[in-house]
Amino acid sequence: MSAPRPTHDRPALDPGPMIALDRVSRSYRRGASEVHALLDASLEVPEGRFVAFMGPSGSGKSTLLNLISGIDRPSTGQVRVGGRRIDRLSEDELARWRARHVGLVFQFFNLMPVLDARDNVALPLLLFRLSREERRRRAELALRVVGLADRLEHTPNMMSGGEQQRVAIARAIVTDPDLIVADEPTGDLDARSAEVVLGLLRTLRQELGKTVVMVTHDPRALRFVDMVFHLDKGRLLLGHEADRAQRALQAALGVDEKGTGAVAANGAAGGRGR
Ligand code: ADP
Ligand code: MG
Repeated sequence: MSAPRPTHDRPALDPGPMIALDRVSRSYRRGASEVHALLDASLEVPEGRFVAFMGPSGSGKSTLLNLISGIDRPSTGQVRVGGRRIDRLSEDELARWRARHVGLVFQFFNLMPVLDARDNVALPLLLFRLSREERRRRAELALRVVGLADRLEHTPNMMSGGEQQRVAIARAIVTDPDLIVADEPTGDLDARSAEVVLGLLRTLRQELGKTVVMVTHDPRALRFVDMVFHLDKGRLLLGHEADRAQRALQAALGVDEKGTGAVAANGAAGGRGR
């Protein structure tokens, strides 16, 4: 029998890319004018990759992430996740879809202060028909995955920022989602905790086969991810624009690493040039 890992049974057939955006735009009305938060973005991410979206503040990173995780819907264009057109789902369908398929991680952890780690992690399981015993068992397993099996009964105020973010990651994986979506998960952490969190996200991809998409400002993320997409002013950068952004990041990191990022993003990712 298969190893006792909390992965889904996956179809043997090639399921296509995990994430596929086709000419996706999202604009917001602000008074009389329109803000184009994301403009004509197309990209593909294969299953089981760890991907970073990078770019300056206001470049549309969170907008893009919210479209992928089904928190928001595009103004135009198609969003497919796991082969499903999620841009067509109603609010209710989208909420149900998210509960089953997506684990969310936020910059400020968003843990419930009165609940201990185990109860925080068990929260998303309330949407499923499981006994309290089973919810606790699964929460403990998820906390073990993030290395916090010895913190089950700690409340958030008894833990460091790095530990709290690991609890939040346990909460994101407890439902065994296909996709982990993290918006600036290291934005509020010191350097060492940030590396631990990035390493953990990479482990989820390597050991559990999760697809992990993350927004970050942190050049250190380059060492951990498989692909990087660069954004600027609501546009996904391609070709040399992406290469230039990638080189600037590598310079910021102070190393001359092999070109995993923009190159992979435009090649393996199939970021389609237009
Ligand atoms: P980032 O995450 O890269 O900092 P965002 O995706 O949050 O950028 O925002 C991109 C642009 O869209 C910004 O100009 C922002 O002000 C605008 N924007 C984002 N969300 C909204 C909203 N709900 N209403 C109006 N404008 C928004
Ligand atoms: Mg943002």
